[in-house]
Amino acid sequence: MEFLRPMTWEDALAARAAHPGALPVQGGTDVMVEINFAARRPDALLDLNPVRELAGWEPVDGRLRIGAGVTYARLIEELGDRLPGLAQASRTVGSPQIRNRGTVGGNLGAASPAGDSHPPLLACGAEIEVASAARGTRMIPAAAFYTGVKRNALEPDELIRAVWTAPATGPQYFSKIGTRNAMVIAVCSFALALHPEERRAGTGVGSAAPTPRRAASAEEFLSAELDWDGRRPIDPGVARRFGELVREAAAPIDDVRGTAGYRVHALAVMARRTLAWAWNDYAGEAGREAS
Ligand SMILES: Cc1cc2nc3c(=O)[nH]c(=O)nc-3n(C[C@H](O)[C@H](O)[C@H](O)COP(=O)(O)OP(=O)(O)OC[C@H]3O[C@@H](n4cnc5c(N)ncnc54)[C@H](O)[C@@H]3O)c2cc1C
Repeated sequence: MEFLRPMTWEDALAARAAHPGALPVQGGTDVMVEINFAARRPDALLDLNPVRELAGWEPVDGRLRIGAGVTYARLIEELGDRLPGLAQASRTVGSPQIRNRGTVGGNLGAASPAGDSHPPLLACGAEIEVASAARGTRMIPAAAFYTGVKRNALEPDELIRAVWTAPATGPQYFSKIGTRNAMVIAVCSFALALHPEERRAGTGVGSAAPTPRRAASAEEFLSAELDWDGRRPIDPGVARRFGELVREAAAPIDDVRGTAGYRVHALAVMARRTLAWAWNDYAGEAGREAS
């Protein structure tokens, strides 16, 4: 097997175009498992680790541009205050070893419906920057990035360069159900982000449909019902209806990790819980501001 090691982004794109059978590898926490279990036998590996710019992040025009090679450990450590939802999800990924190697770029590349970074990326309205040598750069909204089970919107000659998202302007929460507390693939997961300046709630549903997806009707309903200015407590009927709409957005299957019935039930519970946590933060903040 050939091993390609470009040193620059331009060389990486050129290698991607010249070797369509080469499999990109960042942390290798998905790729090496697939190779070890003979699930894949690529002609070549395209190692992106020497491309230093992929491992950096920076603020640009009020948003954060996070290189595809930034690990979960660094996200938690360096961006936890600005992206609390993504950081919470990152803390649930694998073990310390996996979080030290694994990246959001790799999670997007793998595009598993159970990938933990996807729900918070959907909830905060992230965009994925991808590029090819032939056509240059394009931005793909997270909601359009996932196209099928373990399939994404990348063309064969494209690579993921970065994830763009605004720092949180309101509370963000991520909740994940697993069969144990650590080293576990999500049975299902849910992310909520409140965007008070836009009077808008964002959601992301994981491991409960062929792709990660937003619960659009639930977002619309909640955005209209929340008392953004008065910050009055949430009516229990609103919380219940929000849970129902999140449940209706899912299309899960029965599999070894859980039944479809359990998944939709758990999603409604996680939706109500994350809403309670987020609204307590938002309303509590107003109390602190007033005192
Ligand atoms: C023990 C164990 C536990 C795990 N637990 C979790 C978990 O709890 N939650 C979870 O979500 N995942 C989990 N995973 C899966 C994996 O760690 C994540 O999907 C991780 O985000 C992959 O990142 P990586 O950098 O290692 O990707 P890699 O393995 O390097 O690549 C993954 C895929 O993305 C492609 N790719 C990588 N970089 C790019 C790029 N820049 N452009 C285009 N394509 C690219 C690769 O070709 C490959 O198809 C676990 C894996 C293991 C082995």
